[in-house]
Amino acid sequence: MDSADFIVIGGGIAGLSAAARLAAHGRVVVLEGEEALGYHSSGRSATFSHFGIGNRIVRALTAHSRRYFLEAGDGALCRRSTALFVATEEMLPALRLLERDMAAFSDAVRPTDPAEMERLFPPLRTGPGAAVAGLADGDGLRLDSDAMLQGFRRTMSEHRGTVLTGRRVRSIERGEPRWTVRGESGEAWRAPVLIDAAGAWADEIAHMAGVRPLALRPLRRTIIVVDPPPGADVRHWPFVKTAVDDFYVLPESGGLMASPVDEVESGPCDAQPEEYDVALAAWKVERYTHLSVERIAHRWAGLRTFPADRTPDAGFAADAPGFFWLAGQGGFGLQTAPALAEAVEALVTGSHWPEALARLGVTADDIAPGRLYES
Ligand SMILES: Cc1cc2nc3c(=O)[nH]c(=O)nc-3n(C[C@H](O)[C@H](O)[C@H](O)COP(=O)(O)OP(=O)(O)OC[C@H]3O[C@@H](n4cnc5c(N)ncnc54)[C@H](O)[C@@H]3O)c2cc1C
Repeated sequence: MDSADFIVIGGGIAGLSAAARLAAHGRVVVLEGEEALGYHSSGRSATFSHFGIGNRIVRALTAHSRRYFLEAGDGALCRRSTALFVATEEMLPALRLLERDMAAFSDAVRPTDPAEMERLFPPLRTGPGAAVAGLADGDGLRLDSDAMLQGFRRTMSEHRGTVLTGRRVRSIERGEPRWTVRGESGEAWRAPVLIDAAGAWADEIAHMAGVRPLALRPLRRTIIVVDPPPGADVRHWPFVKTAVDDFYVLPESGGLMASPVDEVESGPCDAQPEEYDVALAAWKVERYTHLSVERIAHRWAGLRTFPADRTPDAGFAADAPGFFWLAGQGGFGLQTAPALAEAVEALVTGSHWPEALARLGVTADDIAPGRLYES
């Protein structure tokens, strides 16, 4: 039986970013069921950080994480990229609300007109029935999820933290004062603090541990990659999203990645794209752009896992000493990971709440899992 100070279940961005922080305080063991880190949601995202998504808490966590992305890893974690939000006539009220909400966190948000939108993203359909107004935000960041995962893993190893892949947790026993976690092959690990960062499986882990679940909802989202216009160099094209949640498109390896922004109920699983959602994605590419989809070069799907109020959860379970939730990062788990990991460090070690988060108006209560049992 291997003993540690902290066991983290889940080798996605949530588990690794928190483990990297905790490794400075004691021995951390990360247990990941798959052979590769980031095999599930963290490796299937659109890898963009922007202020056009989520509620006030999510935007504040995004704002706090920006400094980390820009300063850590010698520029390897991200590159600056404009985020362009476009609106048809019917979406104009949503665009105005978006401008207000984004301006609270970014000075770089400004209205833009169809001529500039076409200059930024040449295939965009503009005019009646298509995009008539927009917002450009120069504070967008294209993230590198693999560089993030490897960077957090490196930080852990520098502190003698251990990441074990291919270790699916099958049972959890609560003892005083330690948790015992067992893998499929009978291996066991023991620690006083158990961090549940199992993404779509977080409620299943809680169930194994005898902890009241949070009623998390994994929702499937689909992505397709299509060919760019012939001869176009799309590398510096922006991330383009409709002002309401209907469609987005951004550059990907010389092509264009697009999503119909679908949210299909799912259990925790190895999510696969459904034909209907792939067809819907292609249809929306043609609806919002002049591109004609002749070929779908790649397609994939992943799960975005939400609690009822769509705010991430980080905090100890009230009903089980030492069981710590780190779940419900929905569609913003990459862009909020550095801030959430800092919050986890403060909550787990009992140190001061990060001042920068307090200044942005985020308190421990905002992300405490207990809030979800109150309504
Ligand atoms: C299509 C799509 C687009 C997205 N776009 C963006 C974006 O542009 N920007 C952004 O910030 N976010 C985006 N997201 C959201 C982001 O990817 C997630 O919020 C984030 O990856 C969640 O990280 P996680 O570590 O909680 O989950 P995961 O990466 O799923 O990690 C959880 C891990 O726990 C492991 N696990 C589960 N059960 C066990 C067990 N019993 N034993 C051991 N291990 C176990 C799993 O194998 C998994 O690897 C997107 C998501 C999707 C699907």
